Amino acid sequence: MKIISINAGSSSLKFSLFNMDDESVIASGLFERIGIEGSGYTIKYNGEKVEQEVELVTHADAVRILLEKLIDLNIIGSLEEIDGVGHRLVHGKDKYSSSVVITDEVIADLENFKDFAPLHNPANILGIQAFREVLPDVLMVGVFDTAFHQTMEATSYLYPVPYSWYKDHGVRKYGFHGTSHRYIASTTAKLLNKENFRLISCHIGNGGSISAVLDGKCIDTSMGLTPLAGIMMGTRSGDVDPSIITYVMEKEGKNASEVIDDLNKRSGLLGLSEYSHDMRDVLARADEGDENCILARDKYVRSIVNYIGQYYLLLGGVDVIVFTAGVGENSIPIRQLVCEKLLPLGVKIDLDKNNIRGEITKISTAESKVEVYVIPTDEELMIARDTVSLIENR
Ligand code: AMP
Repeated sequence: MKIISINAGSSSLKFSLFNMDDESVIASGLFERIGIEGSGYTIKYNGEKVEQEVELVTHADAVRILLEKLIDLNIIGSLEEIDGVGHRLVHGKDKYSSSVVITDEVIADLENFKDFAPLHNPANILGIQAFREVLPDVLMVGVFDTAFHQTMEATSYLYPVPYSWYKDHGVRKYGFHGTSHRYIASTTAKLLNKENFRLISCHIGNGGSISAVLDGKCIDTSMGLTPLAGIMMGTRSGDVDPSIITYVMEKEGKNASEVIDDLNKRSGLLGLSEYSHDMRDVLARADEGDENCILARDKYVRSIVNYIGQYYLLLGGVDVIVFTAGVGENSIPIRQLVCEKLLPLGVKIDLDKNNIRGEITKISTAESKVEVYVIPTDEELMIARDTVSLIENR
């Protein structure tokens, strides 16, 4: 069975084409600058890479060219070979707790929920409509970033604010990166060959979130109503005192959206280091003794450790901690610094085993009370798996 996984942004469309018989990637790529000058695409397949600048006025242009190229490059013989298309969808509010076949109702909900993801939900709709136009008969599935977190109880998802904000306006924690946390939970279950265990899943990339997962179900997660909450990130502050907003508005003559924009785009590693949002840059300068970069690194580690400590208590102990996403999969020093601070929980890692990037590896020692793994995440594969499962259960 061949499935395309799609992640549509406001001016981009990422795809992976899977052969789901063995879950291998047949081709993957990116269409960028859709609707902007200088648009084009990159397609990787069979160890080759094709890049071309081409006018892409709409997402439908990108999809049309994608499908033409898959045939021209002999990646597929005909469009009939595509059995399904899975779309990454960002915000399903509390209506969607699992993946769904995309219907008009789903599209209307994406539109209705767009206040909660003003950039992402409209882009997701563009991606869906583009495929509907070009491949009208192929089944499409929506996989929501928020769905995995729907198992949280009210004590986790409610904020201690007027209850009417929740009832009237849906103000609550929704959580994000759910597809990644679910992939980590299911891969860990396979590695351990068991279903019932206490997991802390650390998805730390440019964006980042940590989830507490009990027996495969999310019981809490660090992101909130929006992806601004939780741990410190590349450019996002994570949790801060909300009074900062009005204070800075007054001091800098900004409106609330401008300050929120500062918290989203000019905070985190970038804000504290005054240098870069990229962990590699920050670590390199920290090694040279730059004080702001040392501070940014140490604050980042502290914010991760704080959440792990919190979730350790919530879960009543922890069996496994997993590091994933850009920093989690690749940053040897950040994993080491975090794990050193987890010594009171009985976490011990083997520095030689930790000396890896991007491979499934158990980095804890035999004596460690908690197993610690690095597991590369694969949201695209999870989307493709959900698509197959909904096709088979129709
Ligand atoms: P993601 O959002 O998951 O793609 O993660 C992107 C982030 O991963 C980048 O901004 C980097 O900060 C980080 N990253 C990638 N490779 C490394 C590395 N070798 N060492 C430290 N950080 C890395």
